[in-house]
Amino acid sequence: MTDTKTILVTGANKGIGFHIARGLAEQGHTVLVAARSEERGGQAAATLREEGLDARFLHLDVTDQALVTAAAKRVDEEFGRLDALVNNAGIALADGAWNTSELTPETTRKVFETNVIGVVSVTNAFLPLLRKSEAGRIVNVSSEVGSFTFITDPNQPFAGMQVGAYGASKSALNMLTVSYAVELKDTPIKINAMTPGYTKTDLNENQGWRAPEKSAKVAIDLALLDGDGPSGGFFQEGLEYHA
Ligand code: NDP
Repeated sequence: MTDTKTILVTGANKGIGFHIARGLAEQGHTVLVAARSEERGGQAAATLREEGLDARFLHLDVTDQALVTAAAKRVDEEFGRLDALVNNAGIALADGAWNTSELTPETTRKVFETNVIGVVSVTNAFLPLLRKSEAGRIVNVSSEVGSFTFITDPNQPFAGMQVGAYGASKSALNMLTVSYAVELKDTPIKINAMTPGYTKTDLNENQGWRAPEKSAKVAIDLALLDGDGPSGGFFQEGLEYHA
């Protein structure tokens, strides 16, 4: 295999996903900037190309199965394989209801549709292409608020917070990560979840305190993991294991 990898990042038009895409492209890889909006995704890919990077827009709404299937077909035709998939696209809807008892089924369904079912849909569509790589990697962008250990630790900033459908969706994502890792254990594919930490992006109305460039680093490292690296884990900055 050549050193240049083909790597797909979902929700790469802005926020942490954009910086994951940029960081990977800066290391010489071909990055598929996947986004649900042709305009926003096309613009993001163009910005990276203006920086001299190999970035190509890929139309992909993780909740639209037809688009997911078409995107996998396009990558197959153009590259014949995928070396890494970063499932970054995510939403944190609360619709104004911060008490769990006030969560509506509609909001809960929407959050799970993107953060959980979207990941299953995209991962399963691209797994045949990841299997064609000598070292397929999957990175699931999760959150510390999906961690039971973290959210019940009185020393953590989010202790006692209601994490609602969002936190529950990230817990589900972590368990899916473990489940995929079990299935893929006898293949070269490695799959891990990570938390970027509380990051300044539109997701939290720019209230986060970490810079997205910094938060992207864990996902970049996991997408380029060596063959002796872990699978089925949950990591934070510095590839430190997160319980
Ligand atoms: P942003 O809101 O800045 O970016 C989210 C990205 O996901 C956007 O590109 C958005 O596209 C895309 N997206 C949303 N829904 C879909 C969809 N159906 N199909 C394709 N793309 C979609 O948020 P962040 O950068 O902060 O979030 C990135 C990831 O990091 C998420 O998974 C989030 O849960 C996770 N995370 C973020 C934290 C933080 O503090 N910011 C902390 C922990 C985890 P569009 O522009 O079209 O809306």
